[in-house]
Amino acid sequence: MSLRFSAPSRRESVAGAIAEPATPFHLVQVLSDLWRLVIRSNAPQLKTRLGIALALTVIGKALGVVAPLLLGAAVNRLAKGHDAAAGFALAFAGLAVGWAVIRMLAAIAPQARDAIFTPLAQAAQQTAATETFAHALTLSMDFHQTKRTGSLSRVIDRGARSIDFLLRTLVFNLAPTALELAMAAIVLAKAYDWRFAATAVLTVTVYGVLTFAISDWRIGHRRALNEADSEAAGRAVDALMNYETVKTFGAEARAAATYDQALSGYSKASVQANTSLALLNGVQAVVMNIGLGIMAVLAGMEAMAGRMGPGDVTAAILILISLYAPLNILGFAYREIRQSFIDMEAMLDLTRQKPDVADAPDAIDLPGALDRRGGDIVFKGVSFRHDARSEGLSDVSFQIAPGTTTALVGPSGAGKTTLVRLALRLIDPQAGQVMLDGVDLKQLKVAALRRAVALVPQDVALFNDSLRANIAFARPELTDDAIWAAAEAAELGNFIRGLPDGMATRVGERGLKLSGGERQRVGIARALLADPRVLILDEATSALDSRTEQAIQATLRRARQGRTTLVVAHRLSTIADADEILVLKVGRVVERGTHQALIALDGEYASLWRKQTRKTSAN
Ligand code: ADP
Ligand code: MG
Repeated sequence: MSLRFSAPSRRESVAGAIAEPATPFHLVQVLSDLWRLVIRSNAPQLKTRLGIALALTVIGKALGVVAPLLLGAAVNRLAKGHDAAAGFALAFAGLAVGWAVIRMLAAIAPQARDAIFTPLAQAAQQTAATETFAHALTLSMDFHQTKRTGSLSRVIDRGARSIDFLLRTLVFNLAPTALELAMAAIVLAKAYDWRFAATAVLTVTVYGVLTFAISDWRIGHRRALNEADSEAAGRAVDALMNYETVKTFGAEARAAATYDQALSGYSKASVQANTSLALLNGVQAVVMNIGLGIMAVLAGMEAMAGRMGPGDVTAAILILISLYAPLNILGFAYREIRQSFIDMEAMLDLTRQKPDVADAPDAIDLPGALDRRGGDIVFKGVSFRHDARSEGLSDVSFQIAPGTTTALVGPSGAGKTTLVRLALRLIDPQAGQVMLDGVDLKQLKVAALRRAVALVPQDVALFNDSLRANIAFARPELTDDAIWAAAEAAELGNFIRGLPDGMATRVGERGLKLSGGERQRVGIARALLADPRVLILDEATSALDSRTEQAIQATLRRARQGRTTLVVAHRLSTIADADEILVLKVGRVVERGTHQALIALDGEYASLWRKQTRKTSAN
């Protein structure tokens, strides 16, 4: 019955920040969730290991209860006879050695169980984390735009850890302790009398209730401590990240003073949390020892009355002490268990969320190209409005014939990017239909659609990896030659050759070590490498200077050859050669036609064109 906590039980680490649980315990729910996670993990020898682990737990507890009886019997022998007969010594030695051996077995059983069960716990943890991670990636755009990335990965991380923790503390420590209490009560009542059993049950119950009550009260202190801690850390990080501002305004002393203030808040909260912890430990000690005292007096009186031997006094007290051992962690574990419940449920809630965009049960693969390389895009009366917005796209209809280029122009916020997302089925329209090669996107396998379409987004975000990995993201199996060709086509060749690490250069988080223009060119190279049926460029060259843009436009023109292309453009000169130009305004197509036709129409497009050409000639 050893404590198996690496974390100190008498002092608490701030790292395990806690939140006030919103929902009460659903013990049964949590246990059945845990059970299902273990079963689903498909670990090798799952059933055998699980069976042995449960058996070892029960055996360990039972031996722990029985062991003191042997010692008691041994001591009784000692008290009875003082003659040094060989038989007497042998009987005493046998019982004492038996006691030691059983105690040893009782202590080894949980260790053996841990060794046997650990692979299962790890497998359950891994399965749950992977499943949640994969599921989170399938969730809608809206979900990902609303959530905080850090908190999502924390939900997964903590949820997975909580599985291990709950299995170790709840399933293999506290639940067996309840079993041990029941067995001890039976043994005490049978071997001695019911008052012994009542004392044990009562002490443990009072101990548990007081521990829960004080721990609940302490949650406020813990929260204050955690808040003070993140406040101090936040202040420090904020000042360190903004060191340039701090330095240039000579505010070092002020920043240090703010930090100091935050730290003094932490000290205060820390004192409170530690004092209340001391109170909890004190109360626990009082209850435990009162229980021991009662047990000792009871047993002593029985012994004096001759109903019990002196060894039985020892045995009764030992049984109670061994019941206490696992309770030691209760105060510390109670909070963590509560938190683990919440963490695990948060993770499972995530896996229960349904993605907005998912394959229909009868989804099909993209049929072979009808015409040339295919890529016939049709928007039919499409309307879409974001939640919490009063306006959106309304009744947008157009067709992009295979191999042609359609340009989308219009003021910022008109809905161009929204339309691009509809074409990629990152969102589904509320009315109307989007079709690719004659198939409604909702009928198409999402993976097939995304393989057929490549996007260069407005803001290209990169993985914190090498340039090579970022360019080759769409098709990591391609050779270096192909990757280099795409890089050259995106006008990245000279840039990459100029880097000391070349293609192996790491681009930093979200690609922040590259300039906006360089990121965009990586995005273009990535899309070119994907060699898709449909190419979508969402203001793909807006961050480039005009010389680079011209060079890339030549590449893009080549890439567009014979490929269905949807171009969202800010600079009209780059799309003047498009087969059709749609002018979008507040979610509606207000003009459409070729450049010539729209100029002749002398409407929105023509006035925009005049403004831009005047500006460039003035520059
Ligand atoms: P643009 O034509 O500049 O590409 P967008 O399609 O990005 O315009 O946006 C159209 C409108 O929809 C804007 O008013 C924008 O604020 C809004 N919008 C875009 N994304 C969201 C979102 N996830 N939730 C709510 N509103 C959004
Ligand atoms: Mg946009």
